[in-house]
Parts: sequence; structure tokens; C-alpha cells
Amino acid sequence: MAEGRPSIPAELRRRVLVEAGHRCAIPTCRQHPVDIEHIDDWAQVKKHEFENLIALCPTCHRRKGNGANQIDRKSLRQYKANLAVLNSRYGDIERRLIELYAGLLQQQNHTASEPLYFRLGVGTALQVMYLVQDGYLVRVPWDGVKIGDVPLLEMYQFTEAGTEFVKRWAAAQPIDPGDEAAEGTMAADTNS
Ligand SMILES: [Zn+2]
Repeated sequence: MAEGRPSIPAELRRRVLVEAGHRCAIPTCRQHPVDIEHIDDWAQVKKHEFENLIALCPTCHRRKGNGANQIDRKSLRQYKANLAVLNSRYGDIERRLIELYAGLLQQQNHTASEPLYFRLGVGTALQVMYLVQDGYLVRVPWDGVKIGDVPLLEMYQFTEAGTEFVKRWAAAQPIDPGDEAAEGTMAADTNS
């Protein structure tokens, strides 16, 4: 059974774990510990390749498959692609905000009429600057806790575009607008 199946090389394991931040790659899970799983089953591919490996917690691993309440392979591939986008584009605090917000959206069945606010320490602006630059996060005026005239916290809110972005991430849809354009082009090429 396991005979003849070489173990995943340490360096490759490390790359896959780092890609997922040593947490489950499923956006609304993010538990640890995790193990490295093959997206297309080992029995089928018979090799360990970075593109086909993903970090999953035991619970999500059990849900890997194609039935109801399962996580299918197409979704796993998209989760992995999205991780690469998030990792290269956003910082640690930004990724945590995205995760936190995805969880809150899922819990609350959130609607645009009840915005969720995030209070961040003064000086965090630099750490969330790419989300702000991309139009996904916006600082909202807030008359909060101050020492004298100096506010201690700043308040942020995801924009409509930001909410859409986080929902796409949670739902295993492409989060890079370039991705979809590229997919569209490829589809068009195939058809012609
Ligand atoms: Zn998980």
C-alpha cells in the first residue's frame, strides 16, 4: 500500500506549509495542525508536485471529494491559487483582516446595510495600505477613544468591492481580476 510511495521531500513540504501559513488552506477554516494532501490523488498522479499539494486540516481533508458538503478538486485548486495571490499582494495584518471578515460574513449572513467595523491601532494605516489602495478597505471617521486630541484607534470598514473580494475568496472563486480575464481569453481561444 504505502510501499513504493516516497515521502514528500522536506523542502517541498515546507513550501506548501509556508504557502498556507501553516494553517488549513480553506479560507473559512484556517485551523492547525495541518497535513499535506494531494489535490489529485496520489494513486492517480504518482508524484509529489507543488502545484498538486495543499495544506489541509484533518476535518477539511475528510471533506475532500465530490459529494454533497464536500470540497471538490476544482475548489481546492482555486483556494491554492488564491493563497498565492493573497500572499504576494497583502501583508500579514491584511490577510488576517480578510480571514476575520470572511468568518464574520459567514456567521452573520451579513448584509450591506449592517456594516462591520474593525478598530485598529493608530499607525496601522501603513499595514493595511494595499487593501486601502485597492479600494477594498476604507478608513471611516470615528470619534472614538482619545487621549487629549490624539485618537488611540482608527476604524476601518470593507467597501462593497472589498466585501465582494472576500466573498469570492471564501467561495473558491478567482480573486484576481486578471485571472478571470485570462480564463476568458483562454476559453475564447479554445473555441476559435
Ligand atoms: Zn480545515
